[in-house]
Amino acid sequence: PAAVFEMTIGGRAAAATRHVDLRDPATLEVVASAPMADAVTVDAAVFAAAGAFPEWAADEAARRAGLAALGDALLAHADEIAGLLTREMGKPTAYALGEVKFSGILLKKYAGLAIAEDVIKEDDRVAIRMIRKPLGVMAAITAWNYPVALLAQKIGPGLLAGNTIVVKPSPYAPLTALRIGELARELLPPGVLNVINGGVDVGRALVEHPLPAKISFTGSTEAGRQVMASAATTLKRCTLELGGNDAAVILEDVDLARAAKAIFFAAFDNSGQTCIAVKRIYVPRRLHDEFADAFATVMRSVRMGHGIGEGVGLGPLATRFQREHVAELVEDARSRGATLVQGEMPGLPGWFHPATLVLGLDDDARLVREEQFGPAVPLLAYDHIDDAISRANASQYGLGASVWGRDEAATEAVARRLEAGTAWINTHAVLLPIVPYGGLKQSGMGFEGGPLAVDGCSAMQVVHRRK
Ligand code: NAD
Repeated sequence: PAAVFEMTIGGRAAAATRHVDLRDPATLEVVASAPMADAVTVDAAVFAAAGAFPEWAADEAARRAGLAALGDALLAHADEIAGLLTREMGKPTAYALGEVKFSGILLKKYAGLAIAEDVIKEDDRVAIRMIRKPLGVMAAITAWNYPVALLAQKIGPGLLAGNTIVVKPSPYAPLTALRIGELARELLPPGVLNVINGGVDVGRALVEHPLPAKISFTGSTEAGRQVMASAATTLKRCTLELGGNDAAVILEDVDLARAAKAIFFAAFDNSGQTCIAVKRIYVPRRLHDEFADAFATVMRSVRMGHGIGEGVGLGPLATRFQREHVAELVEDARSRGATLVQGEMPGLPGWFHPATLVLGLDDDARLVREEQFGPAVPLLAYDHIDDAISRANASQYGLGASVWGRDEAATEAVARRLEAGTAWINTHAVLLPIVPYGGLKQSGMGFEGGPLAVDGCSAMQVVHRRK
């Protein structure tokens, strides 16, 4: 029988009037029954968080202890939570385990992070300081692609800053968040961390609710625009981590074999379902064929299959919709005369799409302009670096980008011209704990990762003393 999960409100299991079946995206078997929130649940969770706020806000030592305990609990339950993660959204076991451990370590790092106090001006007449205070109730709304890491990136700074939180994961992958809510019942005061589940309606109800002071949101750019509009009615603070269409720009003096391998994994880890995955590759025309061959060789060496399988590097897409979306963009490329180089498919009924390198595509194609969020990437030839940079920057998105080459000055110069919140050099999609990241343009607003994230979860106050 499918495992039954429950929401957590006020430190206890919360009743749900409705449950839905969740399927393993690789096999389509029902693996769990997940509770769904309604308007009453949203209200109860927000009020539980509001009730817990004054005491939590007043006790920084308790917050640090609670965060450290939650981090330890994630590490102690890493295998179990990773198992749920693979079943709810398909990523291979080794990656799932990596995500859970990263998240546990992240929470522990936040437990020890200083809350800054800046001296703005100090002389014999004035002392002016910038301090950080808790904001109140925070809503944390996450996507299904990294359900554990995205959660940790929000509750780490949110709880440290002194806020109490209502978490709403994606209804496509809510199991890990629900389980973390259960673990938190024993480790945090009741109401400090509430975990509910539901779709767009529940997310919207949270954002429109008058009580939360802060929305920390990760999802698509389209949903981000809606969240910002809803939050405007009460001028809630928003951190928005949204979509991307990251370009990798290869230079003439690149270490080609190394770059092909690294770019393959940066594009196709998590089956391409990563906000900061490489989604377009720009290569000097002279190196095009050689790079395509090297990339295809790596692609053919990685096995696609059920995430729990031995030696599996690529899993299915997390949802039927995502699979159809990728297939549609690849079909559009084919209809424009592009060449497809594809990897093997497993013989399973789930939402698989073959790893696909797309050659000979024009810049107007949907696969170049839109976020594919799946295992298909276009390789685009260029003749002059200025042209490559302007094509890389010609996007509503500005999340990440990378440049690949041996010359330090040349790669540095290109990195600084790329319009992206993070510009990597000879690597891509690497996020270390506590390192800030955020999107430019329509990829987002505000930062996650480290002190900037804590600032985003804080009421910043100037204390101005006349001596
Ligand atoms: P999505 O926008 O469909 O949903 C994200 C979350 O928002 C879900 O929990 C959903 O229920 C909720 N939601 C949707 N509309 C809402 C609304 N109007 N009000 C309140 N809540 C709402 O995104 P998804 O398909 O789950 O995730 C994929 C997207 O997330 C991609 O675009 C990806 O690039 C992006 N993403 C960004 C980052 C980042 O850090 N920048 C990280 C991971 C994913």
